[in-house]
Amino acid sequence: MDWQNHLDRIARDVRPKLGRGQVATYIDALARIPNDRFGMAVRTIDGAEFTVGDGEVPFSIQSISKLFTLTMAMNFIGDRLWKRVGREPSGNPFNSLVQLEREEGIPRNPLINAGAHVVTDCLAAHCRNPQRDIIRFIRHIAGNQLIDYDGEVAASERATGYRNFALANFLKSFGNLENDVDKVLDLYFHQCAISMSCLDLCRAASFLANNGVDPVSGERIVPKARARRINSLMLTCGLYDAVGNFAFRVGLPAKSGVGGGIIAVWPGHLTVCVWSPGLDKSGNSLAGTRALELFARRTGATIF
Ligand code: GLU
Repeated sequence: MDWQNHLDRIARDVRPKLGRGQVATYIDALARIPNDRFGMAVRTIDGAEFTVGDGEVPFSIQSISKLFTLTMAMNFIGDRLWKRVGREPSGNPFNSLVQLEREEGIPRNPLINAGAHVVTDCLAAHCRNPQRDIIRFIRHIAGNQLIDYDGEVAASERATGYRNFALANFLKSFGNLENDVDKVLDLYFHQCAISMSCLDLCRAASFLANNGVDPVSGERIVPKARARRINSLMLTCGLYDAVGNFAFRVGLPAKSGVGGGIIAVWPGHLTVCVWSPGLDKSGNSLAGTRALELFARRTGATIF
């Protein structure tokens, strides 16, 4: 397959969509990013890599971080996690409060904000220095020691994180946070504020395309069954309340973030990541979703 040619064509074809959609204005530091940026990368399980446009430019990964903290938490506590968080799509916006209240402090899944707070709480309980351990893990699986937190984005999230404070306080009131709200949220705002490029994300998520093993180093990151479970959570919960539409249009397990990134996994074949900051009304990258739709249609990259 001529992956480079596919990426080049897709970058041309989505051009009319660039500049459309809204950047995430509720986080000041993200509101300043021009919404006409576009990058894409592919990494096959043979280790071949391809990029187009801004595919090597770091951006704010935001909720994509939930994938990596979930992987760490599952490695630490395994199935005990499911006592505290569900595995169903939420059908609600990523930062919705009503469902959490109605369901008595058990978030629907680990890939919406409240679920991610619980996951982050597990890391805070298990790691001596969770902030250091999260970045170490991500640097390791991405093979890039330069990946780091963006302090300005983290501070900006804290300054406007009213809904996250509300969610975490709800969780605490229902007894579903072990640590202090402030400690959990500080860690959460930092994990969201990690900067990575599409290529970094393709490398970091490669183990999910290869039964839990990094295809290049051969290192096992998670057991095979766990990789399958993480992929199914991405498929059913990875794109907020637009997850059904994304499965319909693309048909790959994926995780999006309000920074405009989407990482998708084609098990047994490759990882593909796209970045374009203009978001649709569900908070998913507008041009990015279109790019992945074209990619799946033209290359046959779908699990269905
Ligand atoms: N930091 C963002 C928030 O918690 C992440 C949301 C996202 O990317 O979906 O609101």
